[in-house]
Order: sequence, then C-alpha cells, then structure tokens
Amino acid sequence: MPRILLLGGTYEASLAARALADAGLEAVFSYAGRTEAPAPQPLPMRVGGFGGVAGLVDYLQREGMTHVIDATHPFAAQMSRKAYAACAARGLPLLSLQRAPWVAGEGDDWKHVDDIGGAVAALPSAPARVFLAIGKQNLAPFAALHQHHFLLRLVDAPAARPMPNCSVVIAKGPFDVAGDMALMQEHGISHIIAKNAGGQGASAKLVAARALRLPVIMIARPDAPLRDTVETTGAMMAWLAHHDALRGV
Ligand code: NAP
Repeated sequence: MPRILLLGGTYEASLAARALADAGLEAVFSYAGRTEAPAPQPLPMRVGGFGGVAGLVDYLQREGMTHVIDATHPFAAQMSRKAYAACAARGLPLLSLQRAPWVAGEGDDWKHVDDIGGAVAALPSAPARVFLAIGKQNLAPFAALHQHHFLLRLVDAPAARPMPNCSVVIAKGPFDVAGDMALMQEHGISHIIAKNAGGQGASAKLVAARALRLPVIMIARPDAPLRDTVETTGAMMAWLAHHDALRGV
C-alpha cells in the first residue's frame, strides 16, 4: 500500500497536505518543530528531527513509507540533502515540491549575494536601518555590525533579545504590500535583506521595496541535490500517479 512522507514547514507543504488528504492517500506530515504552534494539518503529523540520515532511513523502513515529498523551505538544505541520501539508501522515489525563485523586475534594485556572508559584506559601511527578513537563524554575523539597526520579523517572540541593535516584530505570513510598506516606513528602513525563498506569502516586502525605491540584498538559494522537482500540487499529484502512488485510492 502506498504511504507518503511529506516533509513540511512551508505554505506549499500545507497545500500539498490538503491535496494528499483530499485524494484519500495515506501520508504523514513531518515538522522540524522550530515554531511553537505549527499549523494543524489534515494528515497525521509527527514533529522533530529524525536523527540524521540513519534515523530517517530507519523511520522510512519502520513506517513502511513508499514515497517521500520534500516540501521544506528552499533554505532547509540539510533536510533536503538527508532526504535525498535516505531515499537513495532505501530506493524510494523522492519529489521536491518547491516554489520558483523570485526574479527582479523593472524598478527593482537588487544586489545578488551567494550567502549570509555575502549579505553582511554587501551592507554599506555608513549606518543603515536594515529590514533583516531572514528569520531567526543566522543573525549572529549581523549582530557584530554595531553601526546598523536591524528590524527583525519573527514568528515566535524570542526568549531573549536576539541582538543588541534591533527591533523585533512578531508576525506570521502571508504578508501584504500595504502592511509591509507601512512597516518599512515606520522603521525608517534603508535596506532589505531577503532569502530568495520564492512564492507569494513573503513577496510583499519586495513589492514594497520597489514602491519605496529601497535596495534589496537578495541571498541566493543553497545548492540542492538533483531530484525530480515540481512547483504545484497538481504536478505533485501527476508525479505520484506516475510513480504508482495512487493505487487503490
Ligand atoms: P535544515 O537546516 O535543513 O534542517 C536541520 C535539521 O532539522 C534536519 O537535519 C532535521 O533533523 C530537522 N528537520 C528539518 N526539517 C524537518 C522536517 N520537515 N521534519 C523533520 N525534521 C526536520 O532546516 P532549517 O533551515 O532549520 O528549517 C527547519 C524547518 O523550518 C524546515 O521544515 C523548513 O521547511 C522550515 N523553514 C525554514 C526556513 C529557512 O529559512 N531555513 C524558512 C521557513 C521555514 P535530523 O537530521 O535530526 O533529521
């Protein structure tokens, strides 16, 4: 009997969960457990790491998984690499469900950098007010830049102040352009740093930056293993059909 492990933590993963549930497929939704109140899903859920590749191989075997869908965030590179290795070890078909990266359009002022270090280096030496829209990880390299002030937008309130030179806003996407423009104006933002996540839920800040003529430092996605990749749940269902996962549904 086909049984699918869906690796989540994104809006796309929630859409995928809905599509799998609606199709009556047997599947488990997996969260890393990074946020305090993960969104409920219409599938059985598990929370927490698997314990590396070996732990995931064990889990796949124990749970009788036949297919894996990696719908993690494009910057969750470790999970994607481990899923790739575990599926190779178990001989299971693996699909990446991932939104396309954002592309700069007319009126955008984007500077492309390869990684967090590149984003640190791309900031001006003069004091700036930076909307650091990268979540709660990787803040340390910015904390050392005392001349700048950082606006952080986080899902959960931090237990301690994440860095000395910051303001924190607690909010969960999707966000809208008017709200993001107001936020940037209120905080006198001069630069935006973003991860190239793609998708609709977090793109409002880029439209707002364009409207306010603010420069964006755009961090490129980390390298991912070469695997089957789709952008929509419709294409995901077609892939599942092609890989014999709709048997008996
Ligand atoms: P990561 O660095 O790629 O993964 C670190 C470890 O977390 C993995 O090795 C795995 O632990 C565990 N893990 C990650 N995703 C998991 C999942 N869906 N189910 C079970 N275990 C998982 O991941 P990350 O960048 O910290 O992201 C963590 C989660 O937040 C992901 O689910 C991702 O989709 C979501 N997220 C990430 C970002 C981002 O910018 N990175 C943004 C929005 C949402 P073991 O080795 O023990 O199995």
